[in-house]
Amino acid sequence: MIAILRNSAPDEAVDQLVSWIQSKGLQTDVSRGENKIVIGLVGDTTKIDPFLLESMDIVERVQRVSEPFKKANRKFHPADTVVDCGHGVKLGGGHFQVIAGPCSVEGENLLAIARRVHAAGATMLRGGAFKPRTSPYAYQGMGSEGLDLLIEASRELDMPIVTEIMDPRDVALFVDKGIDVMQIGARNAQNFPLLKEVGKTQVPVLLKRGMSGTIDELLMAAEYIMSEGNPNVILCERGIRTFETRTRNTFDLNAVPVLHYLSHLPVVADPSHATGYTRYVEPMALAACAAGADGLEIEVHDMPARAWSDGAQALTPDQFDHLMDRIRAIRAVIAQDGGRS
Ligand code: PEP
Ligand code: MN
Repeated sequence: MIAILRNSAPDEAVDQLVSWIQSKGLQTDVSRGENKIVIGLVGDTTKIDPFLLESMDIVERVQRVSEPFKKANRKFHPADTVVDCGHGVKLGGGHFQVIAGPCSVEGENLLAIARRVHAAGATMLRGGAFKPRTSPYAYQGMGSEGLDLLIEASRELDMPIVTEIMDPRDVALFVDKGIDVMQIGARNAQNFPLLKEVGKTQVPVLLKRGMSGTIDELLMAAEYIMSEGNPNVILCERGIRTFETRTRNTFDLNAVPVLHYLSHLPVVADPSHATGYTRYVEPMALAACAAGADGLEIEVHDMPARAWSDGAQALTPDQFDHLMDRIRAIRAVIAQDGGRS
């Protein structure tokens, strides 16, 4: 439920109304625009009589928000959220970033890959130190040592890192090490204890869509994080499971404009996991740019054939150079046209 207040509402009356709503056990999200003040009521809104609320002097209109996500909802946070990822890198609201690096951190080759993607124009470095693998016998990642390699690369190149967290018990480790962006992968998109735990920090979270997750489920996962107090959520479309078998997943590019319509959070697209094959990554990365993504996440490996995970979808650094040239070209065309509508 949202309450739109009269322009003339005095601060004191607004504060009183907020306290009254909070006394009913609800949280409030006050958004002050140039022309109006909007209060978002978060929680069990059945405790509030909308007619009573609307009858108050300072309230112009009360609107039920039918969507169950509130903090992620564009309805009462109309402006795009810009997430500060550290190292001077902002994402969302016109700030476009490319996150690139290997699927897994494997050792010293991370630095070589990082230098190449940085030189090509990537602004954020990715790499998994804790890997969610279908098989318990597959490579599980370097763990904390892998985080240290990412940090070393981040310091050398002055770029933020994005790395996956799988266990709520690791949040303190990620925070202590100063990880710039915590990724929650498709397999953990509904790991509610993990979502809540990262929500207790202020560290930006790159939240991937579950492989059979609906757009609403992705937004509700974001809501879990935000309702704990962390507003720094970046949504990521990474393909969903369908009946199609020619690609690893089906890239749901519809999700990009739909998420922008429903939510103010930035939207990143991952054509690597969405397609699963190197040859399809470039065309679908360009398509995601054209669809209005605020960023891309791309897997790059110095020797894809030897990668410990996801080699089939990795670009070589040379292929990534080429892709970055084309991304710049397509973004220039989009900018000429005025950007996202
Ligand atoms: C990854 O980014 O390497 C990864 C495991 O992604 P996803 O969770 O989208 O499968
Ligand atoms: Mn991967």
